[in-house]
Amino acid sequence: SKRSTVAQRSCAFFFSEKVNNVTTTSTRNLNVVARPSDLIGNTPLIDLEDILKNHGVDTSNGVKLVGKLESLGPCSSVKDRLGRSLIDEAEAKGVITPGKTVLVEPTSGNTGIALAFIARERGYRCILTMPESMSIERRIMLMSLGAEVVLTPKETAVPGALAKAKEIIESLNGDGYMLQQFENPANPKIHRETTGPEIWRDTDGLVDVLVSGCGTGGTITGISQYIKGSKEHGCEPLKPTMKSVAVEPMEQMLITEAKGGEKKGPQGPHRIQGMGPGMVPKVLDLDLIDEVIGVHSDEATEMSHELWMKGLPVGISSGAIVKAAVDVCKRPESAGKFVVAIIPSFGERYFTHPMFAEVKEKAEKLQKQPLPEPFDNTE
Ligand code: PMP
Repeated sequence: SKRSTVAQRSCAFFFSEKVNNVTTTSTRNLNVVARPSDLIGNTPLIDLEDILKNHGVDTSNGVKLVGKLESLGPCSSVKDRLGRSLIDEAEAKGVITPGKTVLVEPTSGNTGIALAFIARERGYRCILTMPESMSIERRIMLMSLGAEVVLTPKETAVPGALAKAKEIIESLNGDGYMLQQFENPANPKIHRETTGPEIWRDTDGLVDVLVSGCGTGGTITGISQYIKGSKEHGCEPLKPTMKSVAVEPMEQMLITEAKGGEKKGPQGPHRIQGMGPGMVPKVLDLDLIDEVIGVHSDEATEMSHELWMKGLPVGISSGAIVKAAVDVCKRPESAGKFVVAIIPSFGERYFTHPMFAEVKEKAEKLQKQPLPEPFDNTE
């Protein structure tokens, strides 16, 4: 049907066989993808019961918490879906052409990585502008994917990177194009068409509560449209009672404020990359948000560490989202509820975050020790 656009991982292969001196060719569909972007989506769900138990949640009342591992995409974040969607939609509208258009975007985050990745696959030149304060790992990652990186003064922050991107586009005489993730309807659309259907399919329609971070708001908006229903987009309500919980940094409670709630504690900079962009984005549909939970950067870091210690290497925003989800599960009214938490990104991308400072120091010291004797297993 029109709404089941969950990707199939199959690819046609031609086989030539010579039997009895006659060569025949046959086609077979194998579970092999054709190109890197075909690896996007169909991410797995993992039971987080251990985490609930660690936090004293009694699961005998039927409450269930699962994480959707967007961290397992080809470029390790929920933004892989967005990168492809932004480029696919612009191509479908005929506004960008491989080999001609230069994609220019102010982004230091996972969107930049996803755009660089898809741009490479499709043959676009890609220029990303970002404040000089962004980590060296980011620059290496983007440049290794063939993108060009232009640094802007850290004092001018995100608006400075945006102004620079506009300046570059002007200098490109009509060949530059900005995809604008915070405003582009292709952002919630991809979650409405893939992430939402996947959650519905993989939970057998059992999902009662969605807990998702909010950066652009694309993830939570798109999934909620698909499951709660959206007349505007032709989505029949599958479960209008599903509760959508948005998570934002406690240090920057702008969505809470926009929903008429109270900010908690001092407001200012936070350390949860990917969420809390310092504005209420255009693509976020506030009407679909039932509750907003603020999580402090320290709590997010602590939970991210706990997830690593359970063998799940995830990013800091994943920690924030799981922390909020555990708090939801603790409530008596969550008895029997099926809660899905989005795990937006893989943990290896955050080694410059203070969370790893202690391990980094230990690892550096370790190099100075002699190597252990080789293990003899020849007997
Ligand atoms: N966490 C991380 C690590 C992200 O990169 C993003 C995307 N900015 C989010 C959470 C939030 O996703 P969205 O932009 O769809 O709200």
